[in-house]
Amino acid sequence: MKFIGAHVSAAGGVDNSPINAYQIGATAFALFTKNQRQWHAKPLETDMIDRFKQRCEKYGYTHKQILPHDSYLINLGSPDDEQLAKSRAAFLDEFKRCEQLGLSMINFHPGSDLKKISMDECLTRIAESINLTLDQTSGVTAVIENTAGQGSNLGYTFEQLAAIIAQVNDKSRVGVCIDTCHAFAAGYDLRTEKAYHETFEQFDKVIGFNYLRGMHLNDAKSEFASHVDRHASIGKGNIGKVAFQCIMRDPRINDIPLILETPESTIWAEEIQWLRDQER
Ligand SMILES: [Zn+2]
Ligand SMILES: [Zn+2]
Repeated sequence: MKFIGAHVSAAGGVDNSPINAYQIGATAFALFTKNQRQWHAKPLETDMIDRFKQRCEKYGYTHKQILPHDSYLINLGSPDDEQLAKSRAAFLDEFKRCEQLGLSMINFHPGSDLKKISMDECLTRIAESINLTLDQTSGVTAVIENTAGQGSNLGYTFEQLAAIIAQVNDKSRVGVCIDTCHAFAAGYDLRTEKAYHETFEQFDKVIGFNYLRGMHLNDAKSEFASHVDRHASIGKGNIGKVAFQCIMRDPRINDIPLILETPESTIWAEEIQWLRDQER
């Protein structure tokens, strides 16, 4: 079964997100559980948590269909000890919010070396951040997103993601989310059926489909291997429709949230329907 949705708005409260997802015909959704551009957020109120859970049940969203995204400010691999501590505290808060909401995964960008420490050192810091967080929480899996490799962001190769996973103690609570735009911009071709299969064969060899917990379905405004992160609507970018048809027909990508982060939210319902039509 394919769970298809989008990163919907949680404006006015997280309890609005299941409604927003339902209105576009989604069977999965992503959300921010707090403002993604701020460090601090007030705690979730009990009645809001209750409403979120009630609405998820009402509209048929189980924890397997929901993939929250953490704040953009967090850098789990920061070379600066003060920033690292701040990031780890904020990351722990993100996990706690997921626990409260009954969610079982959180999606995040691995981190950035800011060109001040080596890549290996940064990957180790990231893994250590994950270990510290998993030790203090339960029931929530850390889902690492591949990046386009823009600036000094790590996690743009399957090997880097595998290196983080290798250093995480509890392998049952770590996974990955593959963003098609980021992969393409990082140099993983998806434009033909052959390229798609080669890329995912490599993914399976280096990381393994058993770690795949979600996907972000985005076409790319950016060029192949450009390391530039610019999303496009499905079929309107440089990846093209074939990759998304392949994903929809790939049984290895069942039962995980497939999330659109495409720029035209007004056509999300259409994009979801189109994806569903490719399933066969
Ligand atoms: Zn992301
Ligand atoms: Zn993404």
